Amino acid sequence: MRVSKVLKAICGFDRETVIIGTVLVRGYRPLLEVHVRAKVRRRGRCGRCDVSSPWLDNGGGVRRWRHLDAGYATVMLVAVARRVECPEHGPTVATVPWARHDTMFTRTFEDLVVHDAIVGNKTAAARRYSVSWRAVDHMCVRLVREALDRVDLLDGLVAVAIDEVKYKKGHRYLTVVCDHFTGRVIWARKGRSKKTVGRFFDDLGETRSAALNFVTADGAEWIHTVVAERAEHAIVCLDTFHVVGWATKALDEVRRQEWNRLREAGNTAGAKQLKGTRWILLRNWEHLTSAQIDVIRDLEETNLRLTRGYQLKEELREILRMPLFAARRALTEWLAWASRSRLVPFVKLARTIRRYRTEIEATIEWGLTNGIAESNNASIGRIRTNARGFHDPEAFITMIMLDRAGLTPQLPWAAA
Ligand SMILES: [Zn+2]
Repeated sequence: MRVSKVLKAICGFDRETVIIGTVLVRGYRPLLEVHVRAKVRRRGRCGRCDVSSPWLDNGGGVRRWRHLDAGYATVMLVAVARRVECPEHGPTVATVPWARHDTMFTRTFEDLVVHDAIVGNKTAAARRYSVSWRAVDHMCVRLVREALDRVDLLDGLVAVAIDEVKYKKGHRYLTVVCDHFTGRVIWARKGRSKKTVGRFFDDLGETRSAALNFVTADGAEWIHTVVAERAEHAIVCLDTFHVVGWATKALDEVRRQEWNRLREAGNTAGAKQLKGTRWILLRNWEHLTSAQIDVIRDLEETNLRLTRGYQLKEELREILRMPLFAARRALTEWLAWASRSRLVPFVKLARTIRRYRTEIEATIEWGLTNGIAESNNASIGRIRTNARGFHDPEAFITMIMLDRAGLTPQLPWAAA
């Protein structure tokens, strides 16, 4: 078999790339220079806009692109960077089949590095391929931009989930929007305010906003206000996951108040008993072990207020899983009970739930929870941990889009 045929297979070139020669530079790590050219065409394509244009000249001479390693050797592609005369951009380097525009790396090399940066992190990818961290960062940005040029993620949306994600200590947040049907993140921006959500609707435009049927969100007032203004026909659902979260928090407050009350009354044994109950109380009933259930049963005899709080939380959880008709009736009863409970945190919670009642019932009716956003949030948290945090929110958004918007590059050898 001819060497060039083997080399062509090793490099994974398509029919468009022609090998014209090789140079092996020996060193600590061998370097294989593969001289290539694109298949001859009557006209070239502009590297910036891909419009077919007449050839101009050979530009600034040869250029080099780092390609996938071949065993021990690093591989560089070397080619004359021919230019075309683009009707819009003027003299521009023509597209080459092996690389994106304006980069020192081949397409497959970039895809592989970005893939590794997503699976692990940029630092690890940089070290693995011996390129700079900044180069990896640029590749990620370039790939996202290229992918977003091809697809408009905001097309055809019917139901979206709006949520917030922390990116840094000290209340730095991103607003993240997911598509309920594909589960993908489709939009993310720095900030969490009316303005940020407003920007999402700006990008969406009036027609597509009017086509939105459902918006799920947490209990953040600012999201609800903007959605009511910009997508007035959309049914807003308040995620029941958050409602349960509120109830759990209320219960924890009751526990803390009770603990303080017992301590102040000099009942150290009682206070001590409560101290160990925190995690048991916060857990869902069905996840408790029999020993933990005994702890709750003991509580029924010693602390009526805390027991009442626990029952309120568990019952609310039950209600949110009922069919709409039953849930409506049960919720009315629950609200009355909570308001009379003489547990301040639950009295407050009842007030909040009354305010969002329409949205909560919409969630029960349509079964659209923010679960999709929550699962994306977990993955986004993993991205943040892998990167050991992000200083730059834009870099974080890039990684979120690559990983969660379905823009992850395929491995070069993946079947199309
Ligand atoms: Zn052009």
